[in-house]
Amino acid sequence: MEFATFATRAATIDAEPADLEIVDHVRALLEAAGEDLEIVARFVQGRVFPAWDSTTLDIGPRTCYEAIARAAGTNVDADDVEERLADRGEIGDVAASYDFGGQQGLGAFTGRGDAGGDGNTGSNGGELTTREVAETLSDLAAADGAGSQDRKVDLLFGLFNRCSSVEARYLSRLVLSEMRIGVGEGTVRDAIAAAFDVPDDRVERALQVSNDYGRVARVARDAGLEGLDAMDLEIGRPVQAMLAQAGTVMGALKDWDEAGVEWKYDGARIQLHHEPPSSPGSNGAPAGANDAATTRIYSRNMEDVTNALPEVVEFAEETLEQPAILDGEVVAVDDAGEPLPFQEVLKRFRRKHDVAKAREEISVRPVFFDCLHAAGEDLLSEPLTRRHDRLEQLLSADENLDPAAVDGLSLLWFSDDPEAIESIDAEALEAGHEGIMLKDPDSTYSPGRRGKHWRKRKPDIETLDCVVTGAEWGEGRRATFLGTFELSVRDGDASEKRGSARSTGAPQHLETIGKVATGITDETLAELTALLEPHIVAEDGQDVDLEPAVVFEVGYEEIQSSPTYSSGYALRFPRFVGVRHDKDPAEADTLERVQRLRYGGRR
Ligand code: AMP
Repeated sequence: MEFATFATRAATIDAEPADLEIVDHVRALLEAAGEDLEIVARFVQGRVFPAWDSTTLDIGPRTCYEAIARAAGTNVDADDVEERLADRGEIGDVAASYDFGGQQGLGAFTGRGDAGGDGNTGSNGGELTTREVAETLSDLAAADGAGSQDRKVDLLFGLFNRCSSVEARYLSRLVLSEMRIGVGEGTVRDAIAAAFDVPDDRVERALQVSNDYGRVARVARDAGLEGLDAMDLEIGRPVQAMLAQAGTVMGALKDWDEAGVEWKYDGARIQLHHEPPSSPGSNGAPAGANDAATTRIYSRNMEDVTNALPEVVEFAEETLEQPAILDGEVVAVDDAGEPLPFQEVLKRFRRKHDVAKAREEISVRPVFFDCLHAAGEDLLSEPLTRRHDRLEQLLSADENLDPAAVDGLSLLWFSDDPEAIESIDAEALEAGHEGIMLKDPDSTYSPGRRGKHWRKRKPDIETLDCVVTGAEWGEGRRATFLGTFELSVRDGDASEKRGSARSTGAPQHLETIGKVATGITDETLAELTALLEPHIVAEDGQDVDLEPAVVFEVGYEEIQSSPTYSSGYALRFPRFVGVRHDKDPAEADTLERVQRLRYGGRR
């Protein structure tokens, strides 16, 4: 496909606000892509390489500016490009604003228009094709060592030099990963389904296992539904990690008969792909000759981090006798094997140089909690219970071994008893981990999904003791109760510097931090009303001001910076825990403690 055709269509999509129309444009683009279908399916999403492939162009914006400047003519330099960028705010606009026409004219003279049926001239003169762009960018990515930056500029210049204005706009965006034409993964999935007349859920499945939009588009077109259904996981091709939502024990037990409960490790996510020596191969694994084990480790972003984690490679080689794809966490540990904080694992995670030295300082160990593939069998659509059983079998040399003694295995408990789950949480914290994960035992593995099947429950953040400085009368049935209580914290420092947030003549300065209204029964509301009513100092409609007298203990999920309240912070999801009858306002929490909780806490 000519790159100009692609760029023109990208411009149409860029200008199109309606999602359905966008799908239709992408469909038309895929149908017209011919031999370049795989490339076009990636480019339209702003990708040069498949999603599973962590290859990058490895260029800074300056390289791109230099190439644009050179193509724009002798009196333009990279600073000029940067200035225009500051003005226009978007690289596509800048690239399109230059006239690369002189060189194009030359191109026309030397053979422009000979693109031919396959649209692939390979010559420097004809219309630029999407294939030429893809191949040149692959060469650019591969350029390495001394002089590679110059070579990258040369290659890019060669492309810009042949661009029309619309081509330059989308080439520059593609190169700098700023395509942003509103085409997300769902759009491409729907467009593939519409273009090649296959159901979108089957396209979705193929995308999940292959993580390659180009390939799925080609298979859908050339081999139809049968081809799509035959696509499987491949060892050496990472898939997206399944993600978790925040959740509570009670919520999980409401939704599931019983919850799967695991420790939540404070490390970095890994996906391990392992092919043992001389195994029969798994789904056409690209492992090559099989006289040595092949182990690759990928990060959550599918970056290849194998070289940084030799302990994990050794673990796989010693433990795994079958081809496998495992999902887990790598944690840093001290000499006694106790977990170290997250920051420590980061020092090892993407390390490229002096790995052996880094290993002497901080060691890491893997803990696996899921199994996506075992011995030739894909397990994505199996329930968690079965995947975990397979995981245990793979990691355990002896099936009679107590699971707790299986190295590298994350234990999975099942329970419908909140107290039992709380005690697993307490053990996890005691052992230095982050808390627990709650998992639906029947759920399948959904790559890339942040669904309800996995829920992370972090330890309750410490509660705050806040002074109640205001409230609102309720409505209807609750008209005689005070509700929606305004919460404040003490600002010790402020007393001398500025006036009090409240003018109640209170002995301390108070700053508001939020309102709590949820989680209070009618009975409690009646008690709170009786407690607070004597302290009303002003009323305006439903709103009342209260003199500082009562302290509430409140829980919350997070402290956020916020202009809404005078403290500069707001409590996210505040909930009433109880009245601190034992505390008077002078003993309530301070702004300083709020700041410490906000900035000094966990990641
Ligand atoms: P968060 O990073 O807070 O969104 O929590 C989700 C992350 O917790 C996952 O991506 C994993 O890296 C990590 N994690 C730790 N332990 C587990 C576990 N047992 N199951 C799933 N994820 C876990």
